[in-house]
Amino acid sequence: MLRRLVAFDTTSRESNLALIHYVRDYLKGHGIDSTLVPNAEGTKANLYAAVGPVKEGGVVLSGHTDVVPVDGQPWDTDPWTLTDKGDQYYGRGTCDMKAFSAIGLAMVPHFLRARLKVPIHFALSYDEEVGCLGAHSLAERLTGAVPRPQVIVIGEPTMMTVVHAHKGARSYVTTFTGFEAHSSMTHLGVSAVHFAGEFIAFLNRLEAELEARAPKDSEFMPPMSTINVGTVHGGTAGNILARECTLLWISRLLPTDDQEEIERRAFDYLQNTLLPAMRRRHPDANIVTERRSSTPPFSPEGNDAAKALARAWSGSNVVGSVPYGTEAGIFRRTIGAPTVVCGPGDIAQAHQPNEFILKSQIDACENFMRRMVEWAEQQ
Ligand SMILES: [Zn+2]
Repeated sequence: MLRRLVAFDTTSRESNLALIHYVRDYLKGHGIDSTLVPNAEGTKANLYAAVGPVKEGGVVLSGHTDVVPVDGQPWDTDPWTLTDKGDQYYGRGTCDMKAFSAIGLAMVPHFLRARLKVPIHFALSYDEEVGCLGAHSLAERLTGAVPRPQVIVIGEPTMMTVVHAHKGARSYVTTFTGFEAHSSMTHLGVSAVHFAGEFIAFLNRLEAELEARAPKDSEFMPPMSTINVGTVHGGTAGNILARECTLLWISRLLPTDDQEEIERRAFDYLQNTLLPAMRRRHPDANIVTERRSSTPPFSPEGNDAAKALARAWSGSNVVGSVPYGTEAGIFRRTIGAPTVVCGPGDIAQAHQPNEFILKSQIDACENFMRRMVEWAEQQ
């Protein structure tokens, strides 16, 4: 199953429909109906399906189908061909995160043979790697269509340890439009680059404030919320006041910090401090900000039941947090059921050339699912 799933190039910019249709047909072959939740353009889809009696309780196994690009990465093997190298399988998505979905799907015959008293749901999403875009509509549809599950497992790579919290992330593109003038005549124009620089300085001050207010007992590493300006593009020549400057910036906030508040303060500074200052110099100046993605934080509160089950199924005593975002916050908030992140593979191998998964991790995940089935038989 992992070989099949890896063979579909589901880089986020591509369609994931070939993979989704393969899974739908595979499940159909086992008598299981799937529901597809397409994107607006119809080029991608989420999928959900249930094995066992459709009733309250049960487990949602959640995986994203997309993978990050291999462009420019020095791979030693074909990233779209699962390659067996002793203790590991190599291929794009082996670790992040087709293995979890593949193991669950491969065990469907086992799920069907069991006397499940509660359902095991599959929830496969698109566009996780570009900001968890598919998970919102998937979680909303599941909430309406499926009786409330008892536990949601997001199978991102954690080495099968139990993760109960992560930071939230929001990404933005802010475009400053100034007015060109010769750089000797600064009074005739306004430089988009200079005002973008003002905004970067503001974000630095905001980040310092977030650092100062981070809880002393923060379990995150780094312990505070962070803000990063990833790219700056602007200007055309040294002797011209820049007409345009574009920033790509990302906030990664602790569950205890408020994404809305930070966003509001940044937008307020842009609209009520910087924009008037630019327009005093030239009335055509403008600032436009577009939010590109929003991943809510995943808070540890309310996940105790899921933690207890995931620890029992995984055999892991490690419960912790991770600094990267997953779909857990979206599923937790929208469906309102206890959620954990627990899956095979090491995040250190994710997004890398020569991405691999240890075969022992596949065994560990299979054992997790076997214990999950035993639990589902006893409900
Ligand atoms: Zn992932």
